[in-house]
Amino acid sequence: MSLRAGQIKSSENVGKQVTIRGWVYRLRKQKENAFVLIRDDRGDVIQCVFPVEKAASLTIESSIEATGIVSQDARAPEGGYEIKGKDLKIYNVAGADYPIGEYQSDELLLDKRHLALRTRKMVAMAKVRASVLDFGRRWFVENGWMEVTAPTIVKGAVEGGSTLFKLKYFDEEAYLSQSAQLYLEAMIFSLGPVWSLTPSFRAEKSRTVRHLAEFSHLEAEAPWVTLEDILKVEEQLVSYVIQNTVRERAEELAYLKRDTVDLKKVEPPFERVPYDKVIKVLKSKGFMVTQEDGSKREIQFGDDLSIDSERELTKNATKPMFVVGYPIAVKPFYVKEDSDNQGIGLAADMLAPQGFGEISSGGLREDDIVSMTTRIRKEGLDPAAYDWYLDLRKYGSVPHGGFGLGIERLVRWITNAEDIKDTVLFPRTMSRVTP
Ligand code: ATP
Ligand code: MG
Repeated sequence: MSLRAGQIKSSENVGKQVTIRGWVYRLRKQKENAFVLIRDDRGDVIQCVFPVEKAASLTIESSIEATGIVSQDARAPEGGYEIKGKDLKIYNVAGADYPIGEYQSDELLLDKRHLALRTRKMVAMAKVRASVLDFGRRWFVENGWMEVTAPTIVKGAVEGGSTLFKLKYFDEEAYLSQSAQLYLEAMIFSLGPVWSLTPSFRAEKSRTVRHLAEFSHLEAEAPWVTLEDILKVEEQLVSYVIQNTVRERAEELAYLKRDTVDLKKVEPPFERVPYDKVIKVLKSKGFMVTQEDGSKREIQFGDDLSIDSERELTKNATKPMFVVGYPIAVKPFYVKEDSDNQGIGLAADMLAPQGFGEISSGGLREDDIVSMTTRIRKEGLDPAAYDWYLDLRKYGSVPHGGFGLGIERLVRWITNAEDIKDTVLFPRTMSRVTP
């Protein structure tokens, strides 16, 4: 029976014979001995020492099965245990030109992402990401939300036409979905609170460290809720995911050099900061926005928050905050207007601290058919493209709301990753669709 590195590294195994299968992660050949670091299929490594003749044909990333006796040696890397190798079975001698070594340009690592997945950084990222998805799902299951799946080939835009990917769909035109929201809204009438995790596609034309062309979108929608109900769900969900991920992935986060002191303090409630106050704060700091012609002016009421303004706002924060009360003009057509506060939307964005910025957007949805039709037209959209969606306002409309959270944005914050591309195994951006 073959064991994994983690199972072998235990004092009980000292003196015993074990077998491990894996890949040559590092290789150092000396006069008499070859020191082979073996990576198992969970990304853990252990050193195995062979007489140099036995390991003569080995190259980096060769796949092998090694059998030997476990010994404890404080000098052995990766936990002080090593295997004194006896038998070596080689499955595949890897080409000697394996392109990934210790130091590589980011670009090469992206070009060779199918191989870079074997680096410890990517393994650590993948594990953190898996925990985020796992605990996200658990939160919804434990709190009585039903998981659903919406189509990703659609006819209507949710977030505006400029980022739509067009698709030839048999003899007609269709799009890749930007959000499952409209479909989730249709489901709440018979399924109650629902949630989904689907890829969303956006043809983001600017290169930023927080936009992908395809991302994992965690979305939720529920009937009969208030804005405050939705914000409570968001802050509980995010806190639960973070607390559990930080606990389960302590080792990986340490490897990624993520200081988790602040993360451990993330718990409800998150501060609710009104949009108009945010603008005042940014103004007082002399924050400027770039206009379309490239010139700069002072930020003012009515401006959407940009990556830069969100960074400024959150750079010294240690917990996420909600920005509430955006002008509806900067929000999509479905955002419900506050009846006590004309022009203001019942919507909020959650901004992650330390400059990370928006990780989720949520709020109440317009439930009146007349207001909604007007808003669709105002955005230059065709109400006919939304006829099924408008039916939801025609037949038993109810106050309802929900939110959408970007998994990669959350993982980026949790891992303190420089670029969102680091948080996904095969990133899709404007300039990258392979591998
Ligand atoms: P931004 O203003 O940052 O471009 P948005 O307001 O367009 O984002 P929403 O439509 O509110 O995004 O989508 C909900 C969530 O999905 C966002 O809060 C974010 O976490 C995530 N998200 C949106 N666009 C992207 C993207 N291109 N790449 C990764 N995540 C994204
Ligand atoms: Mg948003």
